[in-house]
Amino acid sequence: SVRSWGELSRPWIMVSVNDDEDPHFRKAAFDPNLCPADCPRPCEATCPVVAISKSGVDDKKCYGCGRCLSSCPLQLIHAKNYVRSPQDLVASLRGSPVDALEIHTSGSTRQSFRELWKGREGESHGIEGWAAGLKLVAVSFPDQEEKLLDFMQFVSLTLNLPEHVEMLWQTDGRPMSGDVGHGTARASIVLAQRVLGCQREAGLQGGVQLAGGTNDYTATLLERNELFKSQVTGGKQGVVGAAFGGYARKLLRDELEALNAMGSSLKLEEHQQLAESASMRALAFVNEFKATALGAKRS
Ligand code: SF4
Ligand code: SF4
Repeated sequence: SVRSWGELSRPWIMVSVNDDEDPHFRKAAFDPNLCPADCPRPCEATCPVVAISKSGVDDKKCYGCGRCLSSCPLQLIHAKNYVRSPQDLVASLRGSPVDALEIHTSGSTRQSFRELWKGREGESHGIEGWAAGLKLVAVSFPDQEEKLLDFMQFVSLTLNLPEHVEMLWQTDGRPMSGDVGHGTARASIVLAQRVLGCQREAGLQGGVQLAGGTNDYTATLLERNELFKSQVTGGKQGVVGAAFGGYARKLLRDELEALNAMGSSLKLEEHQQLAESASMRALAFVNEFKATALGAKRS
């Protein structure tokens, strides 16, 4: 189906890494043998991607949203966190055709951010040397409250990106929650407004991209708050992009459920008909977002 859209240039490949425990890098798990036969299985009902069955949690489907963790009356469900050393990451990234890097950080452990980038004392280098060949580095973070400006200055100084590498500040307002409802869209907008303010205050380079809570209400809120580039004046910056990870799973839920009902081991992108339907649905959503951005006016 992608071919039928005409000539496309190769999309950039982005790799995501984390500097510490992070919900984007965890999986839920439990031992299904411990579940009582008469359990009404509330865990299954809470999972937005149908990752839980009588065999436990399917690692390939679970994306770590955490909603099932508190659903079990017997507290059988726990999170498995994945944190790799900078050395390991560099080894696995070396030689891969990556254009962009996304670093997830909570902002609370600055030492782990520094170590990820610069390397640990006495060990080999961090990912800084490898990243010099990239086109873009995105740093994704939740609200840092009163420490936001200090945090952004720390990140900017630590990364010290060469001129040819673009910087993206990614506002993870309410991580992995875009499918929950319209209200979650506000969190990333509010954080973006604060990040833009800090950027101006400290003269920091880079674009601001929304994430964490974005959904089909995001474009409306961006327009209402005059944050699209076409609405910004006086040398100020607007929001340059939005990531829709959580909402995308909701958008494509019909296709994901259809694949699940078939009992197929294929991934969505490997099933031609479902992949086509999912692609068209995603394209329609993106086109609507772009149309709002292009048509946005100043009040
Ligand atoms: S609810 Fe979230 S954390 Fe739990 S299994 Fe489903 S995707 Fe994974
Ligand atoms: S809610 Fe707990 S006990 Fe019930 S099926 Fe899920 S994990 Fe097992």
